[in-house]
Amino acid sequence: MNNTLTSAQLNGILSIADDAIICVDGMHRIILFNQGAERTFGWKAAEVHGKELNLLLPPRYHGEHGRHIERFDRSGQSARKMAERQAIYAVRKDGSEFPAEASISKLEAESGMIYTVILRDISRRMAYERELKAAKERAEAAMQAKSMFLANMSHEIRTPLNAVIGMTSLLLNTHIDDEQRDYAETIRASSEVLLTIINDILDYSKIEIGRLEIERQPFDLRRCIEESLDLISPEASEKNINLAYFIDESVPAALVSDVTRLRQILVNLLSNSIKFTHRGEVVVSVSAVPFGDASHEVLFSVKDTGIGIPQERQGELFQAFTQVDASTTRKYGGTGLGLAISKRLTEIMGGRMWVESEVGAGSIFSFTVVAEASGSQLAQSFLQERSSALAGKHVLIVDDNSTNRRILVKQALLWGMVPSAAASAIEALDLVRHGHAFDVAILDMSMPEMDGLSLATEIRKYRDEKALPLIMLTSVAHRPRNVMTSEVKFSAYLNKPIKPTALFDALLHSMQIAPLNAPMRRVAAPSEKLADTLPVKILVAEDNTVNQKVVQQLLAHLGYRADVVANGIEVLDALERQNYDVVLMDVQMPEMDGLEATRRLRARYGAGVPPRVIAMTANAMPGDRDKCLAAGMDSYVPKPVELEDVRAVLIAVSSPVEEEITHEDAEVIDRRRIGQLMELQDENNPTLVSDIVELFIADSPKHLQHIAEAIAAGDPAALESAAHRFLSSIENLGAGRMRRHCMELEQRGRDGVPDGAAGLLAALQREFEIARQHLRGIVAAP
Ligand code: ADP
Repeated sequence: MNNTLTSAQLNGILSIADDAIICVDGMHRIILFNQGAERTFGWKAAEVHGKELNLLLPPRYHGEHGRHIERFDRSGQSARKMAERQAIYAVRKDGSEFPAEASISKLEAESGMIYTVILRDISRRMAYERELKAAKERAEAAMQAKSMFLANMSHEIRTPLNAVIGMTSLLLNTHIDDEQRDYAETIRASSEVLLTIINDILDYSKIEIGRLEIERQPFDLRRCIEESLDLISPEASEKNINLAYFIDESVPAALVSDVTRLRQILVNLLSNSIKFTHRGEVVVSVSAVPFGDASHEVLFSVKDTGIGIPQERQGELFQAFTQVDASTTRKYGGTGLGLAISKRLTEIMGGRMWVESEVGAGSIFSFTVVAEASGSQLAQSFLQERSSALAGKHVLIVDDNSTNRRILVKQALLWGMVPSAAASAIEALDLVRHGHAFDVAILDMSMPEMDGLSLATEIRKYRDEKALPLIMLTSVAHRPRNVMTSEVKFSAYLNKPIKPTALFDALLHSMQIAPLNAPMRRVAAPSEKLADTLPVKILVAEDNTVNQKVVQQLLAHLGYRADVVANGIEVLDALERQNYDVVLMDVQMPEMDGLEATRRLRARYGAGVPPRVIAMTANAMPGDRDKCLAAGMDSYVPKPVELEDVRAVLIAVSSPVEEEITHEDAEVIDRRRIGQLMELQDENNPTLVSDIVELFIADSPKHLQHIAEAIAAGDPAALESAAHRFLSSIENLGAGRMRRHCMELEQRGRDGVPDGAAGLLAALQREFEIARQHLRGIVAAP
């Protein structure tokens, strides 16, 4: 067999090739032009034979081409692509140019150098690429348009839906029979579900079109987690699912990040876990890895013992509108948006989200965020530290649930306590009987075989209340009635999920230890519902869904069912529809913010009348408070909103008169009132405020004179009427401290006992001097 090819065979091969293959001699004259080249360039081989290679290149490249070949010659390479990535251009017989990809190689022959060019026309491919790029851009634009459409749509749907919800709550406040009430309750509940879905869609489309902004504020992480758990704990306890959380020591107590978004993610994951778990537990744990500087990667995981997710479906979970099993939609509801939103939110916060799950065993959803530790004193650091008050105390922990046991033991260890854990009542009794000296015991109520109550009765046979105080651990929904009435006295009751703050208090209280270095904490809210004594209709304006829920839940604690709207325009719409006594108004909202809404509302309904407006704002700057009051708001609660603050402010704004009398430190001049007067000032009345102030300053001495005369004459009736007349002008300007003295004088007159009236008059005169200074200051201010 002869293995070398004949030149006929070689020619055959050259003619098969699709690419143009062209050989030139040392003078760059064409000596070979295959059929591929004929097809590519439109020349016949015979036509170009002996012609310069430049014939095939656009004239503007001729010079460069020569230099290129020289460079290539010097480089000593045997072959090289001349036009890697960047396309070169070649020219056909008809003069048309086309993009090409070419490589060149050289060969030493007897007759001198031979260069071989292999060239491919890539005009088709480039056109295809251009088309692809255009199609991609069109798809992106369509996506953007779709998201915009979704955003607008959900916005449009919200408006009538708010009307449905508002009207239903009006209906519920009328006299209707039980059946009608039942229907109305269903409408209300369904509308609220619909509203949540629409808000999810709105959120999702906001993320898609890059309109979502992330805040960076210091916050207390523990509190953020507890608030999230609070939102879902009623459901958990209804399903008898153990809810627990644990924050590792590695996690800074206060972080700088977006607390609202973080809570949104947690609530999303937690409600999924509760939804898909029928028995067992849901546990949140948090740990952190420092980055060197103040930054930390904080890892959250939500672990459940629910139905689990098949391996092959886990990848799609985080895509929008996907659910594991289409049939679950009917059984469990939902839009399939929650995880998609949560994942995007974590990504915006510098983290990622993933899932590990096994069908039938449960799921762990984990996510990270990158956040800085905050130096602020927000967090109750005593919860993380060894507490001298509890250090060395022996605590017995009895719970059949191992997660709860672990959490209680860990927390006790953190405080320097000496914990012993028992998984059953029998085990615990054994420890007590064998003389272990415990300072306090925590008993879980629901345990198999012997429950916490029976265990307590048994323990009392060996130790009395003094020797071993007992703390009962229950879930709200499952606190048996006999716990409260049982023979055995418990020194404290703890609700699940176990909160370190509550646990700390319960332990201190049980062992009668006064907190040493611990900061003062709020006492537990009295259980009676404020709504019973103060029945007001409340509208909440807040754009963030999770915040809406927090505020609604908090108001529900006080016995109120509040309607919710998401921006200033919706507030004004809602007020057109029905009367509200109080509007809890977020300051920063899209479309129309809280300040503008209040200004318009005051212009429409007047100042000093309901609805009372309470600002909710995270900005704790004194200037912001003034801005709120100047816009016509009545009061102010800082965010995150606290139960006690809301209770206090609701009482205050709903009974303004009493508030000001009893107010120890009434303001010299109530800025709200000045703000209201400013509102009334317009082109027709450009100097209204200063006119009223001047009038007041000019008139007051006369009033004071009349009061002095009445006192001198010992005439109570005259005193009453003089004080009364002065009072109305004082109130006009909101001069709080003058008002207090003047009312006292009026009362003395009414009672017919002008004793001590001279002293009050002196005080009133003093206050007038002070008020005069203040008023001049206010009027002079730009
Ligand atoms: P949805 O609003 O439908 O709950 P999500 O995006 O939050 O939307 O969840 C998508 C799907 O992922 C759910 O419908 C469910 O099939 C599955 N899933 C989410 N969390 C869990 C969980 N903890 N256990 C089992 N399945 C889950």
